[in-house]
Amino acid sequence: LEFAIQQANELNLPLVVYFGLTDDYPEVNERHYAFMLEGLIETRQELRQRNIAMVIRHELPVEGAARMAEDAAFLVCDRGYLMFQKDWRNRVALQAKCPCVQVETDVVVPVEDASSKEEYSAATIRPKIHARLPEYLVTLEERAPKLSSLALDFESLDSENVRNVLTGLKTDRSVKAVDSFTGGSAAAEKLLDEFISARLDRYPALRNDPNSNSLSGMSPYLHFGQISPVYIALRVARAASPGTESYLEELVIRRELSMNYVNYNPLYNSFEGLPNWAKRVLLEHQQDDREYTYSPSEFEAARTHDPYWNAAQTEMVLTGKMHGYMRMYWGKKIIEWSRSPLEAFETCLHLNNKYSLDGRDPNSYAGVAWCFGRHDRPWASRPVFGNVRYMNARGLKRKFDADRYADKFITLK
Ligand code: FAD
Repeated sequence: LEFAIQQANELNLPLVVYFGLTDDYPEVNERHYAFMLEGLIETRQELRQRNIAMVIRHELPVEGAARMAEDAAFLVCDRGYLMFQKDWRNRVALQAKCPCVQVETDVVVPVEDASSKEEYSAATIRPKIHARLPEYLVTLEERAPKLSSLALDFESLDSENVRNVLTGLKTDRSVKAVDSFTGGSAAAEKLLDEFISARLDRYPALRNDPNSNSLSGMSPYLHFGQISPVYIALRVARAASPGTESYLEELVIRRELSMNYVNYNPLYNSFEGLPNWAKRVLLEHQQDDREYTYSPSEFEAARTHDPYWNAAQTEMVLTGKMHGYMRMYWGKKIIEWSRSPLEAFETCLHLNNKYSLDGRDPNSYAGVAWCFGRHDRPWASRPVFGNVRYMNARGLKRKFDADRYADKFITLK
């Protein structure tokens, strides 16, 4: 936005922001749309205060952006690392007759600047990101547009009422909106303020305890671009808390490792994209006896014998977000109790993306792939998993009061 204002001012032209709202977005449902629309409406109001018009239309973004660009002198778009996000931007750039610039908005260190190849693990990408951080971890300067675009006449959806817009969309309505998270930058900043003042200090010690409410809750906002990772990182760095280092490891290193994965591995959304050693051992152990097996729909309905697993699945279905530590256990157990590793991979990704507000993100693909060995090393061999890391309920109980967690979500169910 700031770069676009700068360009508009240099060209002596007004700036218009465009958003194409499509029914066709992969794997999206009412829950995701409701959260995103709350953010969009707020963004439109904020832009209006800066004399910038925001056009929201119900159409395919590629076609809409290309049409808007016909009358533009300069086009600026944001960045996305998933395959179809890259494809959309390439198609708009190919059609646009004016200069078209993509600005990094998704990470602190642009993925190609951090590394030119798929990285093996956090250990290999960490020094590369750290080396570039001083260049990119800088405060953004806000500018005012010279000309207002508010009086320009554009056809646009009236998004003042989220429900009205939602009713017009042909989307999967089986997954309802949640009230555990309010979409938009104001809600994100409020949550971040609370996290920094009350929880950041205890983040290293308690981030693996789902009963302690020690996480930041930033992932849905990051996913929808309602808060910037640069802004969060600067705020957390300035807090100079005992939790700063550990939080930045997750927000910058782990998160940007996921972006590296989806950018350089075209098979990121399939079992095929896993490391060769992991695929081999999982397939070698495919026929191993399993104490329990569940179908994808039994997993979805949280009908396993394990109260901790059922609680985690219920947390995700009811609140739109599962605690980070439970996500690892949840994924590992789907491997253990599915009929095959391929079915397990698909079940994990499908459920994660369907119910999580932060789903369908590079972190979703990397998180699921991690359960299957990606960005990890081989461990001692055991049934079903081969050398892929295993987790059990005893491990949960060593880290926190797992029964209290299970009680909380079983009661809610
Ligand atoms: P915090 O602990 O407060 O962390 C702050 C930020 O750091 C997060 O918002 C996230 O951007 C980043 N982060 C934290 N942990 C990780 C991690 N392990 N890997 C990469 N980045 C991380 N994350 C998603 O954003 N969307 C998903 O769909 C998703 N699915 C996952 C599925 C599985 C099976 C696993 C094991 C992990 C998944 N993760 C996913 C990663 C991680 O669990 C979440 O990012 C985290 O729980 C989000 O909650 P928070 O923002 O409160 O986290």
